[in-house]
Amino acid sequence: MLELRNINSYYGNIQALHDISLKIEEGEIITLIGANGAGKSTTLMSISGVVPPRTGEILYRGQPIHQMSPDKIVALGICQVPEGRHIFPELTVAENLDMGAFLRRDTHQIKTDLEYIYDLFPILADRRSQPGGNLSGGEQQMLAISRALMAKPELLLLDEPSMGLAPLVTKQIFAIIKKINNEQNTTIFLVEQNANLALKTADRGYVLETGRIIMQGKAEEMLKNEDIQKAYLGI
Ligand code: ATP
Repeated sequence: MLELRNINSYYGNIQALHDISLKIEEGEIITLIGANGAGKSTTLMSISGVVPPRTGEILYRGQPIHQMSPDKIVALGICQVPEGRHIFPELTVAENLDMGAFLRRDTHQIKTDLEYIYDLFPILADRRSQPGGNLSGGEQQMLAISRALMAKPELLLLDEPSMGLAPLVTKQIFAIIKKINNEQNTTIFLVEQNANLALKTADRGYVLETGRIIMQGKAEEMLKNEDIQKAYLGI
């Protein structure tokens, strides 16, 4: 579905990504784990067109997208939930969700999708008339994911959904990520510092260290890998 071939991305003169290559198959949950500053967010932003790679190729269903603008990439069905959530704090929960469906014209289906989201996150249904800024961190993360889902993405890019959240809330959100993947067949690329939970949720994983992929494999095997256990799982 998505392939990165030898991606090199920069901020001015600083090279953040070195020769990144990875593949995501339709229906998979893929995780990219790594420490602070490893280049995880930059990888996502290179895919979504916010930090276009200087060299290399990104193919979505075989079509090159590395020179496309972010809005065209969204229109192809690739949606990013950025780190730190970035909901619209002054708009209500319902209005935030409406914004997610901005590019869509299938009004009837939008209603069905909204009902699905309120089933997935009943707390958002209860709070639909409240400003997004009044929600807790966990609820805002739920809203950010839901707003992206309202765009009906085929590939959902999640940047550290666990950031700043209590363990119980994080667990709940990861269970729902898995549910979305199962029920909607949404392919998921999950960037995380919480390697343990990410590898338990994903099918396959990649490890990023100072802008380079240093390891990849099946998530269940990576969980048993001693180097990963020492470096990322605190075992
Ligand atoms: P974190 O978990 O802290 O978000 P990350 O793995 O997502 O880290 P990136 O945010 O992608 O890492 O950063 C990769 C590298 O690029 C780091 O060295 C970082 O300092 C640098 N970087 C990120 N954003 C910018 C920017 N806007 N300008 C200059 N350098 C940047």
